[in-house]
Amino acid sequence: MEIALTNTLTRRKERFEPANPSRVTMYVCGPTVYSYAHIGNARPPVVFDVLFRLLRLTYGEQAVIYARNYTDIDDKIIAAAAKSGEPIDAITRKFERIYEEDTGALGVLPPTLTPRATEHVSDMIALIEQLLAKGAAYKAETGIYFSVAADEDYGKLSGRSQDELKAGARVEGEDDKRHPSDFALWKTTKPGEPSWEASFGAGRPGWHIECSAMIEKELGSPIDIHGGGIDLIFPHHENEIAQSESAHGHALARVWMHNGFLTMDREKMSKSIGNIITPRELLEDWQGETIRWALLSAHYRAPLDWSEDLLRQAQASLDRLYGAVLRLKDVAAAEVDAPSAFVEALADDLNTPAAIAELSALATAANVAKKPAEQARAKGELLAAARLLGVLNEDPEHWFRASFGDEAAEIDRLVAERVAARAAKNYAESDRLRDELAARGVEVMDSASGSTWRRKG
Ligand code: AMP
Ligand code: ZN
Repeated sequence: MEIALTNTLTRRKERFEPANPSRVTMYVCGPTVYSYAHIGNARPPVVFDVLFRLLRLTYGEQAVIYARNYTDIDDKIIAAAAKSGEPIDAITRKFERIYEEDTGALGVLPPTLTPRATEHVSDMIALIEQLLAKGAAYKAETGIYFSVAADEDYGKLSGRSQDELKAGARVEGEDDKRHPSDFALWKTTKPGEPSWEASFGAGRPGWHIECSAMIEKELGSPIDIHGGGIDLIFPHHENEIAQSESAHGHALARVWMHNGFLTMDREKMSKSIGNIITPRELLEDWQGETIRWALLSAHYRAPLDWSEDLLRQAQASLDRLYGAVLRLKDVAAAEVDAPSAFVEALADDLNTPAAIAELSALATAANVAKKPAEQARAKGELLAAARLLGVLNEDPEHWFRASFGDEAAEIDRLVAERVAARAAKNYAESDRLRDELAARGVEVMDSASGSTWRRKG
C-alpha cells in the first residue's frame, strides 16, 4: 500500500518511501517535563501514534522504530526546581510518569524508544566538538554558539531568508553572540545550575542540540520521518537541521511533518496565554477514547478548535460504534484486515476525518448485517479499522456504563426490574420501565443471552 505524507521541507505531499523498509525510523520531539502537559501538547503524540500504527501495519511491527524524547534539562525545569525546592530529577521523573499516564489514557502506544536528554550529554558534547572543529560553531563567554552565517542552507525548512533572520530575536544573557540568529549549543555553567564537564568548558546543553544528538545516537541519520507541532519548525527544527547537517554532511530527516495548533476560541492553547485544559482535567468528565477521537476529528495539519461541543460529538460518534459492537455481542468477530477504503484514507497523508467517515460506514454495515457470516465479517472489519485508529478498545457494556457515571448503577437496576417484569409476563410494568429508561436516554437491547443497554443514538 502506498503512503503519502506532506513534507514541510519540500512543501509537497509526497509518496513515502523509507530508506530501508525493514527499518523505518521516526522521531517526534517530546515534552519538557516540568509541569502538566495541556491537551494541545497531546495532539502530536496522538497524531504520530496513528502514523506509528499505520507504519507498523505497512512494514511490520518489528520494522518500525519510533523514538520520542524527554527533555529533562532546560531553563524551565531549572526554574521549576528553584521555585519548589525539589531536586531536578524528582520533578522530571514525576512529570515523565504523568505524561506516560496521560498519553496512555488517550490510547497512545509506548514508542519504541524514549531517550532522555540527560542520558545523552556525552553525545551532545561530541557533536559540539565536531561543529567547533568544522568552524560551524564558536566559543564565547556565555556559551558555544552555532554560527548561522557559516551555514548556507540555514532557513530552508522554515523558508526564512538570511536577511529576515538578521532581524532575529535577542535572547537574554547571550549578548556576546556574533549574530542575533546564532543559537546556543552549550550554556556556560552558572552557580546553582546543573553542569557537565566538557573539553570546551563546563556547562549544560541547549535545547536544539539535544534532539540532534539523540536522533544520531538512537536512530542514526538520515531518519525517515521527523515530527512535531508547527511551532517547532522555527527555530527548533531549523536548528536541528543546521547542527546535524553541518556535522554529518547529510540530511537529518527525509520527511518533516508538523501538526497544526489546537486552539480555544481560535487562539493557540498555550501555558503563556493561560487558556489551557489538561488531559487530567478532561479525563474526569470524558473517557480517554472520546478525547482521542476529538483530537483526530480534524486533519492533523489543520487547526483544531477545542470545545465541549467537539467532545459531545466525539462521544456520540463513539456511542454509535460501540452500539454496533454491542448489538453483535454474541457474534464472534471474523479475523479480517481493516477494509482498504479505511486504510487508504489514513495512507493519504493521515486523513483521519475521511477514516472516521469510513469507520462510521462500517458501523452502519454492522448494524444492517443479517446473516451470521455477514455479521461476523462486519464486526471484524469494524474492530480491525478501529484498532488502527486506536479506539473501540473497551468492552461495549463498560463503555456505556462509564459514560453514564454514577447513574449506571440505577440504570442497571431498572433494566433488571424490566427483565423480571417480562419474566413475570407483566408487560404493562415492563413497558413502563422501558419508557423510563428511554427518558434517561437509554435503549435496552434484548438478545438470547440477556438484556443489555446503551445510550440511545
Ligand atoms: P512544548 O512543551 O511547548 O515544547 O510542546 C510539546 C509539543 O506540543 C510540541 O510538539 C509542540 O509543537 C506541541 N504543541 C504545543 N502547543 C500546541 C498546541 N496548542 N496545539 C498543538 N500542538 C502544540
Ligand atoms: Zn526536537
